[in-house]
Amino acid sequence: MARLRYDPWVLSLHLIDATAARWVTLSPDRLAQILAETRPVETIQTVRVQAVRANVGEMPSLVENGRMIALAGFSERILCSSGEGMLRQEVEEVLRAFTSIEFSLPQKLRNQLLPFQQFDSQTCENELAAWLKTIEYYARVKSTWRLPSEIVVRLPAGKLAIDVSDRLSRLGWRNAFQVQRGGELVGFTAEQQQAQYGMKLCEEPYRVITFGACGQLTGCSGDQRQRVYFGSLEEDTLRGLWEGAAMETWRRNRITGQCQGCPGLGSDLRQPSLISVYNSVGEQRFHEYPRQQLCKIANQAEGNVAPRMVTARDFFCAPRKVS
Ligand code: SF4
Repeated sequence: MARLRYDPWVLSLHLIDATAARWVTLSPDRLAQILAETRPVETIQTVRVQAVRANVGEMPSLVENGRMIALAGFSERILCSSGEGMLRQEVEEVLRAFTSIEFSLPQKLRNQLLPFQQFDSQTCENELAAWLKTIEYYARVKSTWRLPSEIVVRLPAGKLAIDVSDRLSRLGWRNAFQVQRGGELVGFTAEQQQAQYGMKLCEEPYRVITFGACGQLTGCSGDQRQRVYFGSLEEDTLRGLWEGAAMETWRRNRITGQCQGCPGLGSDLRQPSLISVYNSVGEQRFHEYPRQQLCKIANQAEGNVAPRMVTARDFFCAPRKVS
């Protein structure tokens, strides 16, 4: 097993790139190559698959991709989708191939439901009904076949023109899925998010290895930013791409470029108590330290555990060596 700098813990794959003039799909050969290179990295257990939507005929290949990832030995396989086009006969196979399915609102519907947007209630109602029907069907199949995979519905944190949460609570097989709100920015008030604290603690460039559908390593798995590319595994090794000069330069410079205005993505490192640590050591060193150590510092600062003798600043004096 190998270790890479920053201990990345997620492999994120964009199966379809719809930002180009024509759609690009990740080929099975490229997927196999990416899995073979990333599997030996001991810190990566999770693969997150971003499927923009499943058009007619794409569900079988989505299932095949999930199975390939499972066969490669990744224990956690998350499929993130808007659910569009996913109400097809392969639902059971999808639930068997992935350990978690995360549904979010389709972008167009979400935009229409935002406050102060022009709101065509009939169109929204129809689109929402189709989306809810998909979720209910997945919940039904999961319950009927007693499948262990999780179904999570992610809703935006703010108020929407229709109470989507209420509609979800009225669906059948409600116990078969969870609903989470604005999960990416846990621990931050709206003011802090506006002040871009979320962006400061964004883990993407350090913890998430993202490949686009064209097989290129990209800088960010978020779909709210135009992507930057650092080359493919045909051009360099995984270590060469991830630790290479181009990506390191981008990590340092991105806040004034690609990341400007983005609230960032991350997980449990987003406690406000870590902001002062972040400010004193800088983004790159902050992300060089293991997650458990950062969690301990945050817990100490928030009084969740007995205080220790070392201060957060002392803790960061000797950078961890990459093995
Ligand atoms: S664009 Fe946003 S999510 Fe992506 S790396 Fe930058 S801050 Fe993080």
